[in-house]
Amino acid sequence: MARPVVLVLLVDALGWEIVQRFGFGGEEFPVRAPLGTVLGYSSAAIPSLLSGATPAEHGSWSMFKRAEAHGSFAFLERFPRLPHALEWRARRWVRQLADRRACARAYYDLYEIPLHLLHRFDLGQKGDPFEPGGLSRETVFDWMRREGVRYRLWYYRSGEEDNLAAAEQALSGDDEVLFVYTAELDALMHRVGIFHESVAARLRRYQSFLSTMRGAARARGVALATIVLSDHGMTDVTRVVDPWGALERAGKRVGRDFLAFFDSTMVRLWGDAGAVDIAAEALGDGGRRLSDEELRGLGCWFSAREYGDAIVLAHPGVLVVPSFMGSSPIAAMHGYHPDDAYSRGCFLSDAGAPAPASLLGFKSYLERVLRETR
Ligand SMILES: [Zn+2]
Repeated sequence: MARPVVLVLLVDALGWEIVQRFGFGGEEFPVRAPLGTVLGYSSAAIPSLLSGATPAEHGSWSMFKRAEAHGSFAFLERFPRLPHALEWRARRWVRQLADRRACARAYYDLYEIPLHLLHRFDLGQKGDPFEPGGLSRETVFDWMRREGVRYRLWYYRSGEEDNLAAAEQALSGDDEVLFVYTAELDALMHRVGIFHESVAARLRRYQSFLSTMRGAARARGVALATIVLSDHGMTDVTRVVDPWGALERAGKRVGRDFLAFFDSTMVRLWGDAGAVDIAAEALGDGGRRLSDEELRGLGCWFSAREYGDAIVLAHPGVLVVPSFMGSSPIAAMHGYHPDDAYSRGCFLSDAGAPAPASLLGFKSYLERVLRETR
């Protein structure tokens, strides 16, 4: 009897609109559907996808939250305001120091967060949700370990091409689940936009990987089931807004008069209702403040307000520039309202069971497939 193996290819930012435009997956997947996502970035969506829990439940929303006493970057408390050119060099040193102090197992980047403000923030998630025990909720990896499912995982700790080659090799082994995560399409689309020819080329590469896996499985007597999915989609940027500049022009300085974190598509503010109004006004018809009720409904309401007293979210295609994530515009972004069509991820499967409506249903989907095939 053929040995059952489930291949999971998790492609960061492979949105349903992109899958449809390029015809990705062709006729090979009987189950093809858009996959609902959560508000936020991969730091929210990946833990939700792996655990089936909302950001409010597992605690990881944006990459950065407000620091409590003894935060990861408390050692920078007296760090001075530096000119931009010096700041860039100092950031590498700060990162090395933070890594030596083992602030986190999770993936993170300091982006362009002003270093003199960094001690006011902490990482939203310190554990690595891809590692067993890495999240406060049970993940699909915790579950597989508990059930004795033999699995292999390849993700951002090594390069995409190496990972795809290693997954192919692993078909000869005795693993039951081969789990490949890649964020390289995400990085590409941020640079070139979502419908660029190089995106089509990258998708052809994934397509050829999937065909190779199918062929190799047949040759080695493996009954291969494949699931391709993404944590969120991506939207081309059409215009930029500058709430940070508007606040400075109004005489309100971040860190002195109030605290704010400028994400790429949202501004999260603490402490000053006037600052919230100015930020919302700067977005104008390009965004709006989310009510507590709406945040609750989205599974992104935090009673301790560690991610912000107020959340101002940009509308799809509107980018906050400059932000703490970057000082110049990029071609495409995600982190817009999950109800927008371009925010949705995709779910393609030949494993049979009906597609989950959102990424919160992936864990139980995989558990069901494994229970049925083992
Ligand atoms: Zn991204």
